[in-house]
Amino acid sequence: MQEKNTTVIPIRYIKGVGPKKALLFNKLGVENVQDLFYYLPRRYEDRTKLVSISDVQVGEEQGVVGKITKKNVFRAKTGTGIFSMTVSDGERSIEAVWYNMPFMNKNFNVGDTILLYGKVELHSKLQITHPVYELIGPDGIRDSLEIGRIVPIYSLTQDLSQKYMHRTVNGAIREFAAETVDCIPTYVRARYSLADLKFAVENIHFPYSFENLEKAYKRFMFEEFFVLQIIMALRRLERAGNGIKHEVHAGLMSEYEKLFPFEFTPCQKKCISDIEKDMSSEKPMYRLIQGDVGSGKTVVAMYALLLSAKNGYQSVMMAPTEILARQHYITVSQAFMPLGLNVRLLIGGMDEKERNGILFDLKNGEIDIVIGTHSVFQKDIEYKNLGLAIIDEQHKFGVEQRKSLREKNVKADTLVMTATPIPRSLAMTVYGDMDISILKGKPDNRRPVVTYWVDETRREPVYAFLRAEVKKGRQAYVVCHRIKKEDGDIFSAEGMYEYLRGEIFKDLRTALLHGQMAADEKDKVMKDFRDKKYDILVATTVVEVGVDVPNATIMLIEDAGKYGLAQLHQLRGRIGRGEHTSYCILFGDAETDASNDRLEAITATDDGFAIAEKDLDLRGPGEFFGTRQSGLPELKFSNVLKDYKIMEDARQEAFALVSADPHLADGRHAGLRTSINERFRGKVRI
Ligand code: ADP
Ligand code: MG
Repeated sequence: MQEKNTTVIPIRYIKGVGPKKALLFNKLGVENVQDLFYYLPRRYEDRTKLVSISDVQVGEEQGVVGKITKKNVFRAKTGTGIFSMTVSDGERSIEAVWYNMPFMNKNFNVGDTILLYGKVELHSKLQITHPVYELIGPDGIRDSLEIGRIVPIYSLTQDLSQKYMHRTVNGAIREFAAETVDCIPTYVRARYSLADLKFAVENIHFPYSFENLEKAYKRFMFEEFFVLQIIMALRRLERAGNGIKHEVHAGLMSEYEKLFPFEFTPCQKKCISDIEKDMSSEKPMYRLIQGDVGSGKTVVAMYALLLSAKNGYQSVMMAPTEILARQHYITVSQAFMPLGLNVRLLIGGMDEKERNGILFDLKNGEIDIVIGTHSVFQKDIEYKNLGLAIIDEQHKFGVEQRKSLREKNVKADTLVMTATPIPRSLAMTVYGDMDISILKGKPDNRRPVVTYWVDETRREPVYAFLRAEVKKGRQAYVVCHRIKKEDGDIFSAEGMYEYLRGEIFKDLRTALLHGQMAADEKDKVMKDFRDKKYDILVATTVVEVGVDVPNATIMLIEDAGKYGLAQLHQLRGRIGRGEHTSYCILFGDAETDASNDRLEAITATDDGFAIAEKDLDLRGPGEFFGTRQSGLPELKFSNVLKDYKIMEDARQEAFALVSADPHLADGRHAGLRTSINERFRGKVRI
């Protein structure tokens, strides 16, 4: 069957839409007919019931019908022109009033039959101000789009009225809905009793009943997940079978274990064996290691570096910040240099000569492992034989980088580390094309972090406690919400640094770290802190991501109410990394209920999974993941958390479909094929 391709029909081909209106639609993100079909009403008004004028309820939105018996244009004392009409249904009458719109007069004649809809007021008479209206021709009430039905209300831009939108959408449905391709195969729809596309489009815009609206909605929810999971399944397939088959030498694991002064936890061992399995298979690895801060992801990921190098391949490790890249560099080079591997650091702002040297050595294969920020994937960098990329995203989702990496080298194994533990349904959405390993719990030697939320009266004892811990040899972070000292603001990083160094802890060694310092300065401070040349580090959230100084056991957070929950947890993850008990002390007021909830949640538990769920609960998935670039697909109809059952069904169907028919060549999948081609052209191979 030749399917009509509605997607490529630009909006201006709809009746009543000219080039000017088309531009307005474009502002709403509506370029073509399909966009219009998927442009969801913001809400619906139930205008199904018409009442007789004598039965209207004052204060409610009501629909009435009657004849115009009188009309009138006059001026208010303020000078504004007012148009009013009296409408009677034979028993009682009601006034309709339009302020500032005297020109309305010409639209109506006494004797016309009219439908009015709006909020009824009672002054000296019954009145509706600026009602929705519709004139009824000689044939009576037919096909009114405004009254006598459930009416969609859209978010619109200026110069597009609801009424115009209704006419346009209705026209488009009449003309195109029947021919639009349905991407859900009939047999799948049958299995879940899902409405077909035509029904769904009609009823999402102009529902005949709320029951129909629900059916339409359910179909679109399923469709949204289904298409997403089809893409995930196709991406997975793209990677099948063209990767590197690594050889795992017997004894490699015991050699690796000897590099560390501790035993791996069972969870770490399981993760390492997942990686080993992936890398020795023909299919490129595409695995996510999910684990709370401090759960020991890095040492797990490093095994992949070693395995890759032993097989003669180069690998890269990418961190979200320079501080973290440098830290990984120190860890990795300390472990692997003695084994004869060449590990190098590549970050922005290196001098030209040094950078060129590294580039040269990468191209020649002199370097086994390169560690850096996103700079490791710059255009001019050539690898001799890149076999593995490790991406440490911590809680920053680098979806774009992940994608560009994949485009650059589909063959390479990829390992992504994230410290944002998320529920399964979400993981299937954001990371649906990856295999997932989860690091539960923390290494045994860890003491939990004790967290207190205190008020100003505790400041002195808290400082005394900090001093006592430092005297025992520990180190402390003091985290401030802003950098600049303005108007003597001692709660800024600069102000706090001066205050602590100059007044409170004159005898201790205090340093300052924030994002506006030069990169080499930051590195030096961080390195000196790690080397115990400082006791206290006053910092902004630059320390939030991945910094690992096991001897630091105290963290004071100023203005704690201003941080998000995940961020507080990340910050707190900087301590509790060694064998000593750690303490996180939160100063600051809860300025809102939400910040109170966050502070209570963070004091109540140290478990990252519990915190992530609480955070999701408080913020909703959209905000939880930040912007659209975050990798959370834009879901218009569904909520990943609430609708996970539908999502699991959709995923199961999608994966089964793709595995049975990888090229969507089966006639039953023609609609799906067309739809995927239209919507994801160039993004996925069929
Ligand atoms: P993550 O990356 O998950 O935040 P890291 O890999 O940085 O955690 O580990 C945090 C610290 O714990 C590091 O100092 C690391 O050497 C140490 N560590 C990792 N695994 C273990 C273990 N099994 N036993 C003891 N210490 C460990
Ligand atoms: Mg880490």
